[in-house]
Amino acid sequence: MSDAKRVIYLDNAATTRTRPEVVEAMLPFFTQYYGNPSSVYDLAGVSKKAVGDARQILADSIGAKPQEIYFTAGGSESDNWAIKAAAEAYQQKGRHIITSKVEHHAVLHTCQYLEKQGFEVTYLDVDEHGVVKLEELKKAIRPDTILISVMFANNEIGTMEPVKAIGQLAKENGILFHTDAVQAYAHVPIDVDAYHIDMLSASGHKLNGPKGIGFLYIRTGVKIRSFIHGGAQERKRRAGTENVPGIVGLGKAAQLAMATMEERAAKEKALRDYLIRRVLAEVPYTRLNGHPTDRLPNNANFAFQFIEGESLLIMLDMAGVCGSSGSACTSGSLDPSHVLLAIGLPHEIAHGSLRLTLSEETTREDINYVVGEIKRIVERLRSMSPLYEDFVKQGR
Ligand SMILES: *Cc1c(COP(=O)(O)O)cnc(C)c1O
Repeated sequence: MSDAKRVIYLDNAATTRTRPEVVEAMLPFFTQYYGNPSSVYDLAGVSKKAVGDARQILADSIGAKPQEIYFTAGGSESDNWAIKAAAEAYQQKGRHIITSKVEHHAVLHTCQYLEKQGFEVTYLDVDEHGVVKLEELKKAIRPDTILISVMFANNEIGTMEPVKAIGQLAKENGILFHTDAVQAYAHVPIDVDAYHIDMLSASGHKLNGPKGIGFLYIRTGVKIRSFIHGGAQERKRRAGTENVPGIVGLGKAAQLAMATMEERAAKEKALRDYLIRRVLAEVPYTRLNGHPTDRLPNNANFAFQFIEGESLLIMLDMAGVCGSSGSACTSGSLDPSHVLLAIGLPHEIAHGSLRLTLSEETTREDINYVVGEIKRIVERLRSMSPLYEDFVKQGR
């Protein structure tokens, strides 16, 4: 990609642009304050204090205590740690775990791994909007259930899960509740006490922070042990010299994101709804995937009949628009996304999906341009589709 090409970046669920203020805050911790926080001299003290300050910011952002925040290498590590370590620590009580069919692979593949180790996992169904069915959750709870892991908001279709009700059920039944909040954290308000959350995963690069840094919130009293063995960092629960620049960047990103959350969400939501309205009105045979209102402020996900999402993506890319498709052809598989199948989309419609996720930098002009390009490209792709031709011949 040439530097000069103008890009409209609408793939903020995949990753975000690191804010310049975040980079600026990180830089001194590479070349100036490079001490190891575990060392005793003054230089190290600066690093140690910076790590502590970031921890305090993150704790405050979810109503937690600083000693309940553990730095990790991102969302995937946090999810793996929470689920595997809880399974290990609580297996005397039972070997049953409940999760949902629409989780991120960092949760799903971890659960599948645990099944091979002799744990039993219930994968809850969701409704047509992607919302976990609470009645099914109630029925799934057993005396040997040790953990419920349900995401705060879905990364593909943006649907918000009923986290508060799930947390309440977990608490009433004495079961640990973990939530993958990677998409929701610093985008929507979260309070770990009000929602009865015992463990929460978050990741820096989904909130305009750096990649490769995240945290796991672990409520005081939860027994889980270290996942990475070695030194005594992170109160002996996560070994390894702290990623000081990353931690500083995550703290700064969280601080900025929390301070602007309300107005950012309002702005993104207005543009998102404008995008959704126009696409549904101007492109025939199209549906919105995910909950119509109870969804992440920046997420729109469409299914266009009679086209391949991958072709749409490639042509959008040529037009300077970055989006994401619901099928996983790019990752070497022809299966459509597990999330789109879980909400009941037939394979052929799931294949024609497009996810667009906005940022605070997105403008109305961007959306106007993108809608125009979608209309043009979808029309062109359909004009080449034998399926569409048959459909039109049959008189619709
Ligand atoms: C991005 C994402 C992850 C993975 O986070 P990484 O920091 O990239 O490892 C996990 N869960 C959800 C919901 C995500 O969107």
